[in-house]
Amino acid sequence: MRSARAVVTGGAGFLGSHLCEKLLAEGMEVVCIDNLLTGSLSNIEHLFGRQGFVFLHYDVTNYLHVPGEVDFVLHFASPASPIDYLELPIQTLKVGSLGTHKALGLAKAKGARFLLASTSEVYGDPLVHPQPESYWGNVNPVGPRGVYDEAKRFAEAMTMAYHRFHGLSTRIVRIFNTYGPRMRANDGRVVPAFISQALTGQPLTVFGDGSQTRSFCYVDDLIEGIVRVLLGEVCEPVNVGNPAEMSVLQFAQAIIQLTGSASPIEYRPLPVDDPKVRQPDITLAYTRLGWRPRVPLQEGLRRTIEYFAARR
Ligand code: UDP
Repeated sequence: MRSARAVVTGGAGFLGSHLCEKLLAEGMEVVCIDNLLTGSLSNIEHLFGRQGFVFLHYDVTNYLHVPGEVDFVLHFASPASPIDYLELPIQTLKVGSLGTHKALGLAKAKGARFLLASTSEVYGDPLVHPQPESYWGNVNPVGPRGVYDEAKRFAEAMTMAYHRFHGLSTRIVRIFNTYGPRMRANDGRVVPAFISQALTGQPLTVFGDGSQTRSFCYVDDLIEGIVRVLLGEVCEPVNVGNPAEMSVLQFAQAIIQLTGSASPIEYRPLPVDDPKVRQPDITLAYTRLGWRPRVPLQEGLRRTIEYFAARR
């Protein structure tokens, strides 16, 4: 019997590279596709000699052809940090719309199961807290974050249309804030920003008054959740994230404490449409798939700080 074969778009990114590694460990063959716009070969170079691993340098907004049989298509390609999608607004819209269409087309042609990496950003600046999957969200379509939020909302709609109209087997994960090794130090997201600042003695840049909340999930937990969704039987969107909620200011204090840094905290203006609260309701993932996060914040941050410290 041949091994299952998975295509991972955005496979050289932060989440994509961890996912490729996990699927290989599960015994699958992996075709990793990335245009290296925000992804990096350094995230996957350790996989190059691995049996069953292939890398294609390709932009998935173009017609997508992968020779041979394919069992799973996992669409993870997209700029994914607020400063990336502010700098790359058109590419963000294209990979969420055209890229999703091409990846769905590939899955349909191969009779593969499709999994979409969606996001908590579909909930926008939420008026329901914590956010269950049944909440439709509060998104500003024309604001600077709209390019990401609306691309992902379109991608979900497209995925469900392929499911309903073509009978494609589809899965949608709504990914909440995730952190861990292989985030880019300068991607602008709060975890790499604060850790880099703390390690270099720079002030930690807290946006707004720091009272906005986020809930941070360690990458290993998240990847386990994604695999459960992929192999499980839930075809509606599933939240995957860690419900441990804290304010950004509390988070800055935690980083200062864990790094033993003498960095001060500096307040900066809050970005436009920055969500005031965010916390996943993970009842669905827990009751239907038996998944919940296990790595405590302190432990996950310790591993992440170690990674950034080693790369300095
Ligand atoms: N943030 C901050 N300082 C930074 C970067 C981000 O205070 O240097 C805040 C940001 O305004 C947001 C939260 O941290 O409220 C999380 O930001 P991130 O960019 O990581 O992701 P988001 O959850 O907003 O998509």
